[in-house]
Amino acid sequence: MSDPVFCLEGKSVWVAGHRGMVGSALVRRLQSENCTVQTADRKDADLTRQEEVETWMNANRPQVVFLAAAKVGGIQANNSYPAQFLYENLMIEANIIHAAFLTGVEKLVFLGSTCIYPKLAPQPIPEEALLTGPLEPTNEWYAVAKIAGIKLCQAYRLQHGCDFIAAQPTNLYGPGDNYDLETSHVLPALLRKAHEAKVSGAETMTVWGTGNPLREFLHVDDLADAAVFLAKHYSGESHINVGSGEELSIRELAETICKVVGFEGTLKFDASKPDGTPRKLSDVSRLRELGWNRAGDLTSGLQSTYADLLADPGQLAK
Ligand code: GDP
Repeated sequence: MSDPVFCLEGKSVWVAGHRGMVGSALVRRLQSENCTVQTADRKDADLTRQEEVETWMNANRPQVVFLAAAKVGGIQANNSYPAQFLYENLMIEANIIHAAFLTGVEKLVFLGSTCIYPKLAPQPIPEEALLTGPLEPTNEWYAVAKIAGIKLCQAYRLQHGCDFIAAQPTNLYGPGDNYDLETSHVLPALLRKAHEAKVSGAETMTVWGTGNPLREFLHVDDLADAAVFLAKHYSGESHINVGSGEELSIRELAETICKVVGFEGTLKFDASKPDGTPRKLSDVSRLRELGWNRAGDLTSGLQSTYADLLADPGQLAK
C-alpha cells in the first residue's frame, strides 16, 4: 500500500451533502477516524449561493472537505430539468472549491459520476478516457457539471497548489437510495420489484430490456471507505476511478436480487424498454496500485441494503 500523504486525525472535516446517499455514508465512515465531522443544513447555507458558502466556511473553518453535495436524478429528471442540473451543480462545485481555496482547506475530495465518460469509451474505462468523445446526451447536463468539478480541482492544484483531488465512483447502491421506479437506477428498482412481488404473491417480476447489458455496482459504504483512503493516500491531478472492477449481466443481477429477497417466481424481460449501453465497467487499476481493494461482495451488499429497506420501508414512499 502507498504511504499516507495526509493525516485526518484531529482535523475538522466537512461532509458537504451529508443527507444524500453518498454524504451519509461518508459521515458513517468518518466516525471511525479520529476527526470532527461537520455538516451544514440548507438553513445554515444554501450551497448554490456563493456568499452563504463563504460565510459558512469562514465561520466553521473546515480543514478537510468531502464534496458530495449535488443535484442528482435519473434519466427522466435530467431530461426534464436540464437548466437546474447544470446550474445548481456548477454553482455548488464552484462555490465550495473556491471557498476552500480562500479559507486554506488542506484537503478536498470531490466526488464525480460515471456519466462523465464518453458514451463510447473503451471498456474497462480508464481515467484517460475523459473528454475523448461525445457524452451520453440524456445526462450531459449533469456530466458537464461533474467534469467541471474535476477540472476545478485540477486548476486550483495547478495555479494555487491546493491539495484537491477527485474520485470517480461507479454505479452506487445502499441505504438512502432512490426507489422511485420512474427515476431510479436498475439495482434499487429490481430490489423494490422483487420485494413487492414477494409480498403480493405475484408469479412474475418484470425486468426492463433483454437482461444482457453488463454493469458494475459498488456499495456506497465501500465508496466512502475508498474516498477516505484516497484522502489519506493520494495527492495528484488525475481523478481516480472507484469501483469493484467486477461486472455482471442485468439478468444475473435480477437473479441474485430475487435470491436475497426470497422471491421465487419467474423473471419476465420487457424488450420494449431500452437496454442502454451494452457494457459499463471502470478500470480500477490505479486505485488498486494505490492499495485499495476492499470492495465487499455484491450478495452481502444486497443483503444489508435489503435489511435496511425492511427496517425503514418509508424509503419506498419517497
Ligand atoms: P444505466 O446504467 O445508465 O443504463 O441506467 P439504469 O441503471 O437505469 O439501467 C441499467 C440497465 O438495467 C438497463 O439495461 C435497463 O434497461 C436495465 N433494467 C432492467 N430493469 C430495470 C428497471 O426496473 N429499472 C431500471 N432503471 N433499469 C432496469
